[in-house]
Amino acid sequence: MAIARRPSTELGERLFEYVAAPEATDHVKIAETYSLFIDGRFVEPHSSRRFATVNPATEETLSEVAEADSNDIDRAVTAAAGAFRSWSRLSGARRARYLFRISRIMQERARELAVLETMDGGKPIKESRDVDVPLAAAHFFYYAGWADKLEWAFPNRRPRPLGVAGQVIPWNFPLLMLAWKIAPALAAGNTVVLKPAETTPLSALAFADICRQADLPPGVVNILTGAGGTGAALLGHPGVRKVAFTGSTEVGKQIQRTTAGSGKHLTLELGGKAANIVFEDAPLDQAVEGIVNGIYFNQGHVCCAGSRLLVQESILEPLLEKLKSRLGTLRVGDPLDKNTDVGAINSRTQLEKIEGLVRSGIEEGAEIYQPECTLPERGFWFRPTIFTNVSQSYRIAREEIFGPVLSVLTFRTPDEAVEKANNTPYGLSAGVWTDKGSRILWMTQRMRAGVVWANTFNRFDPTSPFGGYKESGFGREGGLHGLAAYVELD
Ligand code: NDP
Repeated sequence: MAIARRPSTELGERLFEYVAAPEATDHVKIAETYSLFIDGRFVEPHSSRRFATVNPATEETLSEVAEADSNDIDRAVTAAAGAFRSWSRLSGARRARYLFRISRIMQERARELAVLETMDGGKPIKESRDVDVPLAAAHFFYYAGWADKLEWAFPNRRPRPLGVAGQVIPWNFPLLMLAWKIAPALAAGNTVVLKPAETTPLSALAFADICRQADLPPGVVNILTGAGGTGAALLGHPGVRKVAFTGSTEVGKQIQRTTAGSGKHLTLELGGKAANIVFEDAPLDQAVEGIVNGIYFNQGHVCCAGSRLLVQESILEPLLEKLKSRLGTLRVGDPLDKNTDVGAINSRTQLEKIEGLVRSGIEEGAEIYQPECTLPERGFWFRPTIFTNVSQSYRIAREEIFGPVLSVLTFRTPDEAVEKANNTPYGLSAGVWTDKGSRILWMTQRMRAGVVWANTFNRFDPTSPFGGYKESGFGREGGLHGLAAYVELD
């Protein structure tokens, strides 16, 4: 990393200025147009319609992507149902070989996948390179290990695959969410039809190519691009036996209504409004890093983001001082620059949603803090933001903003912390920062959240189940629990 020194007058304020360190893109070939991946081949969409996928950091169109309609969905589900007959009967060891191969190819093509993910979605390259892609490969690696051990995973239960899984994923972690869905499904002997989000289809299409490279039997994985209507039609198709959805609570509820009574197995991973709770005995510098990681990682486009900071009243001032000073060091800008901490907002629509909620916070009486930083002229950007003087009734304390915006609230006692943390319709995640192990255990027993991180935040591992309570959905992804969602048990 190249580092240039600033003139000595500025040295007191900031010691170093980073020289741009952009990741190369010449090794990534983005086609002008993409088709649908059905039955092992790229095929033209029935309607011939395509939509643009845009780089949110530049607003440039990267490619024109096919829009699948009900005919295409029918073709894909039929291909998946056909492939299910042989894939489900293949020995677990043979299925594992394919999954291991996919994982290896993802590792070999990691640089390409990371650049693609960053260009299409706007996330910093250091995150797609160090988090999204390695974790996605690790998921395939992990579930490959279970494919031939299903009887040991569910002893005395005779696990059987469900059939065709219809899977719809969001735009915040496109490749990782694909891995969370496809890896356990295939390991258990199911076949899949997956729809990536409209704004981030490219890594799923690269994954389709990886399936070909791995010689995966045709029809085992099918990728259909399109918008919300395509997702709804896919999940409603009578040939789909298992529905797996990650996205907004609103759409999740619609899906639950439409699948009710259909006999389809359903798992929903929806929104969140996590409390990140800092007690007065916490190591403050470490907590500040955890808070920053909790809310500014991936521009806050994270369902389990620590978007509500609950601080014990006695340490509010020193903590805020440290936090604001840390915010001043975050680098916002070109996601392809390896120095960038906060990249582009995924789409104009999402930017407008963030701006609207931030306006509501100001109007309701909260105090806003944003560090000074120069934003690029083109693209979708939002400064890392802190709101103080927040009341629990404000929209910014209740609604999922899905952007780099932190709402700070205070508490005096552990009981009050628990009460405020649980005062949300969501229940996906939470964080606790304290020196005392006993307090961590006391808090985790009382918090209604699927994941509780202690003295850390946003840690993910394929072996560890992830999922929510209440309006954050149901079902778990990752670990044995994630496998259980794709089998029928006697
Ligand atoms: P959505 O829930 O609309 O999108 C998630 C996925 O579902 C996308 O692939 C989308 O397609 C698809 N989809 C949309 N409508 C339907 C439907 N009726 N049936 C089946 N699939 C559908 O989220 P948005 O992208 O609109 O984001 C809105 C808000 O949702 C965000 O601001 C954020 O608060 C929250 N969100 C939460 C996520 C989470 O992980 N918890 C992830 C994403 C968003 P397409 O995008 O192509 O239209």
